[in-house]
Amino acid sequence: MGTAQESWWQRFARLVPDLAKLGVTQVWLPPPNKASEKLGRGYDAYDLWDLGEFSQKGTIATRWGTKAQLLNAIHIAKGHGVQVLVDAVLNHKVGADGAEHVEAIPVHPLNRTIEVAPKKTIKAWTVFDFPGRNGKYSPFRWKHEHFTGVDWDGKARDKGVFKITSNRKRGWSQFVSKELGNYDYLLGADVDHLHPEVRADMLAWASWVLGETGAQGFRLDACKHFDHRFLCEFVKTARSAGRPQMFAVAEVWNSEVGILLDFMNALSVPMALFDAPLHTTFHKASMLGPDFDLRTIFHDSLVQSRPRDAVTFVENHDTVEGQSLESPVSRAFAPIAYSIILLRPEGYPCVYHADLMGPRAIPELPKLMEARKRFAYGRCIDHIENSRDPNFIGFLRTGKSKDGPGCAVILSNDVAITDSSKVLTISVGTQHTGTRWCDYLGREGETYIDADGKGHFPILYGTCVYVREDTM
Ligand code: CA
Repeated sequence: MGTAQESWWQRFARLVPDLAKLGVTQVWLPPPNKASEKLGRGYDAYDLWDLGEFSQKGTIATRWGTKAQLLNAIHIAKGHGVQVLVDAVLNHKVGADGAEHVEAIPVHPLNRTIEVAPKKTIKAWTVFDFPGRNGKYSPFRWKHEHFTGVDWDGKARDKGVFKITSNRKRGWSQFVSKELGNYDYLLGADVDHLHPEVRADMLAWASWVLGETGAQGFRLDACKHFDHRFLCEFVKTARSAGRPQMFAVAEVWNSEVGILLDFMNALSVPMALFDAPLHTTFHKASMLGPDFDLRTIFHDSLVQSRPRDAVTFVENHDTVEGQSLESPVSRAFAPIAYSIILLRPEGYPCVYHADLMGPRAIPELPKLMEARKRFAYGRCIDHIENSRDPNFIGFLRTGKSKDGPGCAVILSNDVAITDSSKVLTISVGTQHTGTRWCDYLGREGETYIDADGKGHFPILYGTCVYVREDTM
């Protein structure tokens, strides 16, 4: 937060003009819903219909601010051509208003298909009445029949994974990740998306939250943990309300591309997925330093097989140190990773705000974003798989017209490579013969295009974005 008084939504509103200038066209904001506790980030979803409007869980505002501030921020963003994506937490609810006695079967925490004890009565925190909201927007009140499981028996004071069996419940959804046998249960009170009242309420929320806030799409949280048929229905419903092109990206955290492709192929409506495999490769490359072969950077990535459906990213709030999916990308490798996601035509790049501003910001990132906006057009000619050296790769963007030449991007992960004698030769075309190309990031490398239209671009450790000097 900028100042003690400034909420996150206010801060975002203040930053919008700068973000738009850097070429940002869409922003994924944190979950707007009321969390289970005052400072909850919203992934601990308590009430989806309370966007910081009602006195619940000891606060009107969410951690991020009030509903009025959110609506104002989205309004300002729209005015600058920036769309906002709502982070929808549909898998679970946390912070129940009350407990009730229900029948449940304890299952093995590491294999939820195995029942480890007979059915028993537990005290489950599954009553959500939302007294502060008092039925406004939605009259729906949740009880145990709307959930598939919980992780706490208040009667025996026992922690575990309890599959709710009251009312002849069918148990876990079969259309979820097969990790841990069946990964329907993640945390809190696990929502039963097969229950008609649950479906009706969440589908109504899909259209309501977009209409109410002016947001224009969704980032869908924890999608490997709930029925993917409901996920499709949710996106379809949101699009049917006059938003046929609405953007949606599902979080399906898996570093195996085959699993992501299977997931995508099973969907009945198109949506994007985060390219966790590419992120994992960036993490691996960070760890290995010069021992990583840059020519393999796209191997087994989602963006390689589904370039139009992959949201590429370097880091996010879950992958940085200390978070649930910790797999940080080193500050040394991050500029290379960002060049790869920002300056190529494939994928849908997502910049992490903490990489752009604040104490751990990557100094090169604003320039790389500008470079995307100004130069990353036209065909992409690769010197990646065919590079003669595992420690450097390059690619050329040909530009949009003869007046708008593109850029030659040269990347190296070998700190010892800085030696002006090492160059990567890329043919940029004889129309550029005699022109001088310099690094847009301001590093010392430069070259003149020779009579054959070739540039002999100096290789420096990290990233160089060579552009024609008269277009800088
Ligand atoms: Ca679930």
